[in-house]
Amino acid sequence: MKMILLGPPGAGKGTQAKMLSERFGIPQVSTGDMLRSALKAETALGLEAKRYMESGGLVPDEVVVGIVKDRLAESDCASGYILDGFPRTVAQADALKATLSSLDKELDAVVELVVDTEALVERLTGRRTCQVCGVGYHLRFDPPVDGALCRCGGELFQRQDDDESTIRHRLNVYLEQTLPLTEYYLGQDLLVQVDGMGEIPQVQALVLDCLQASK
Ligand code: ADP
Ligand code: AMP
Repeated sequence: MKMILLGPPGAGKGTQAKMLSERFGIPQVSTGDMLRSALKAETALGLEAKRYMESGGLVPDEVVVGIVKDRLAESDCASGYILDGFPRTVAQADALKATLSSLDKELDAVVELVVDTEALVERLTGRRTCQVCGVGYHLRFDPPVDGALCRCGGELFQRQDDDESTIRHRLNVYLEQTLPLTEYYLGQDLLVQVDGMGEIPQVQALVLDCLQASK
């Protein structure tokens, strides 16, 4: 299965992608995670991406398309993957389409998580992530059992771009640059919209239902 999880920042893409990845045994390919790793390792890619990520803007298309192409060519992606946070522009979607068609492959599904703006802000301001295993939590909606620690024992951190003013900017960037992908994939008869406002397990059930229906 080759699928995209679409939706604004905070919609729950990463949360759902991790659950789908475990269930189907295929990797979560998160461009945000890959860029943050590069930033942490201070690679040339990380240094190039830094200023865009810190301000909440998008990293240039050619940079992101390059890392996704390389990632999808790795052996663990051979039987499928869940794209999380990519594509984010029509140019990225066109590049993905061209890459897949050069390999004689197609996407199976594009699932868009639909969530109200104020709920997104609340989700993002309360988001915490384990610095060891990368699992996500929410202070109110999915709190860590052990106070400030992940179940793996790792410490939790708050992303630098999860402060309210950067969040509002990221949501505007989403409206301007990513929202057109809804029409793009509707036009290709690939898009299914899922109500992402429910609790995490409810959203998971809706996503699984629509993947079943799109088979
Ligand atoms: P995205 O990857 O789309 O930016 P995340 O999956 O990181 O979003 O989720 C953002 C925050 O919202 C996280 O703290 C996560 O625990 C929380 N969250 C995810 N799904 C839900 C949900 N259905 N209801 C409430 N909170 C959620
Ligand atoms: P995310 O983890 O998906 O919220 O992404 C965090 C940040 O990484 C974004 O605000 C962008 O700066 C950058 N980023 C992630 N994915 C992309 C992408 N597909 N295109 C451009 N920039 C991206």
